[in-house]
Amino acid sequence: MSNDIFVVVEQLKGKISDITFEMLGKGREMADALGGKLYAVLIGSQCAGLADELGKADGVLCVADVRLANFNPTAYKHALGELVRERAPRLLMIGNTSMGMDLAAGVSALLNIPLIAYCNNLRVEEGKIVATAQIYGGKLFADAEATGDQLVVSILAGSFSADAGKATGGAPVEEIKAPLSINGGAGVRFKQLIEPEAADVDITKQDILVSVGRGIQSADNLELVEELANALGGVLSSSRPIVDNGWLPKARQVGKSGATVKPKLYFAVGISGAPEHLEGMRDAGLIIAINSDPKAPIFDVAHYGIAADLFDVVPALTEKIKEAK
Ligand SMILES: Cc1cc2nc3c(=O)[nH]c(=O)nc-3n(C[C@H](O)[C@H](O)[C@H](O)COP(=O)(O)OP(=O)(O)OC[C@H]3O[C@@H](n4cnc5c(N)ncnc54)[C@H](O)[C@@H]3O)c2cc1C
Repeated sequence: MSNDIFVVVEQLKGKISDITFEMLGKGREMADALGGKLYAVLIGSQCAGLADELGKADGVLCVADVRLANFNPTAYKHALGELVRERAPRLLMIGNTSMGMDLAAGVSALLNIPLIAYCNNLRVEEGKIVATAQIYGGKLFADAEATGDQLVVSILAGSFSADAGKATGGAPVEEIKAPLSINGGAGVRFKQLIEPEAADVDITKQDILVSVGRGIQSADNLELVEELANALGGVLSSSRPIVDNGWLPKARQVGKSGATVKPKLYFAVGISGAPEHLEGMRDAGLIIAINSDPKAPIFDVAHYGIAADLFDVVPALTEKIKEAK
């Protein structure tokens, strides 16, 4: 058994997603602590171009085949499974994304290797890998160790710095022939990529977000919170009910089924702090919550809290910020 670490590269239409770089940065740390090597595993129709961005790894293992051009959980499971079976890495890191959740569970079951899902941290303690995993939808975090020599983990987006995993050039690429077993994916057919509507703003890239929840009561009142966002030089985002009501576009939704954000400042206005919402924003630099219920769970993660009626606080705050400017 090696002490090597495999990071599965996630990409869409030739663009590597940030979760990959987050895992490469953390994977580098873990490989150094274990005394193993770090490999980026690329599965797709070709390696050219993408491998150049994976310089943080000691090597890139590329399984390229035209049948792997689009994500197919069964075919990808077999392509990755064969590689893991042959090379026996100590740790396999996969993003806890819509693709990664399928893949991590599939490989774990195929090879009978334990899976710790929903991880937001990893460390090495006395030679053992300890993973911190989110349970009960984010209400609790548990430190977990797996039995056996190998482990699969799925990592929540936003857990680590993506910049720490970015480095160009350098990593040698090994091309690996796709195993025959990928034909097992024939029962599942890729039909179409349905892209979300084009977003007017990308809330994952903002330093300041003012997020609004059901406490706002009606679409007409949104203006109030938007004024606060404007005064702060930030952008309006929201909890899910606001999007479900059609008051803001889907691209503005923060949380489990929306975006994971990590702004420097996150205002939560009239948001209760359900686990599905917290999942998308708990790592923001500074969280300020305004909620009339002093027992609202949002106050458990907020750095500052105002237990008051938002209709009193928000206009007064906006006015003060404008004055201060
Ligand atoms: C599979 C799944 C995925 C989900 N994904 C997401 C997701 O991505 N994002 C998300 O946000 N949710 C998601 N949800 C929904 C989630 O469970 C909650 O229902 C939702 O987050 C609640 O939104 P809210 O806090 O705006 O509303 P509520 O829970 O209704 O909270 C409204 C808050 O406003 C406060 N309030 C009311 N009036 C005032 C006032 N005048 N002044 C100040 N405060 C006031 C109340 O005290 C309350 O705390 C998901 C759920 C499921 C099952």
